[in-house]
Amino acid sequence: MSSQTTAQLYEIFNSIQGEGLYVGERQIFIRFAGCNLSCQYCDTPQSQNLTPEFKVEQTPGKRDFKNYPNPATVTQLLEIVGNFNKHKGLNHAISLTGGEPLLQVDFLKTSLPILKKEIGLFFYLETNGVLPDHLAEIIEWVDIIALDIKLPSATGLSPYWKEHRKTLETAALQNVFVKIIFTRETPPKEIDDATSLIAEVSVDIPLILQPVTPHGSIKHRPQPEQILAAQAIAKRKLQTVRVIPQAHKIFGMV
Ligand code: SF4
Repeated sequence: MSSQTTAQLYEIFNSIQGEGLYVGERQIFIRFAGCNLSCQYCDTPQSQNLTPEFKVEQTPGKRDFKNYPNPATVTQLLEIVGNFNKHKGLNHAISLTGGEPLLQVDFLKTSLPILKKEIGLFFYLETNGVLPDHLAEIIEWVDIIALDIKLPSATGLSPYWKEHRKTLETAALQNVFVKIIFTRETPPKEIDDATSLIAEVSVDIPLILQPVTPHGSIKHRPQPEQILAAQAIAKRKLQTVRVIPQAHKIFGMV
């Protein structure tokens, strides 16, 4: 069994969860560096590559980041996360985000049991859903999985239906919801195909449809009637389908 005690990080901060089923919950975010995809509408492109340093917010909400050299150790994480968790009951979870956290699965295997024992918060994993075998290695430690299904039209990538299906089957062992980012150009058939994939695993898995957050232009944002049509397509097969935009950006939060 491999044991990896350090991680390549991009940043650690304390904020509200701005997406998905748990929007508005206070979380401690550990953003891992490095990604195996390069989605067209990535809103954290700075975390796609490894960096010599990672940054840590000193005061929640102030963006007063201090830099530390990569890689980070489990001991450092314990101290930083512990500092953000002094007010017991405030934080809902530790968000493992990126980049793609599952690329560093050996570190997660080492650190999650220690963090769970010392900090005691839920683990909330945000994943692009294309590394099912990596998820299977740590599923016992993850409490909530926010699984992205990447539509070809929104990412500029080929579909990952097989990987998404396998990841979803493993994620369904815990608490999972799916998030789909869609644009004005998304063909309704892609929403339908993704919804079928979810329904084949379980019709009870909640789906969050997230209209794309424009980068300097609103021309890709779906029209209101497209948003309602996408929800109607998904509701034909799934119990819970909500349309939720990125909330943290409204408040200018990270
Ligand atoms: S998987 Fe996430 S972090 Fe990676 S490129 Fe796509 S949106 Fe960005």
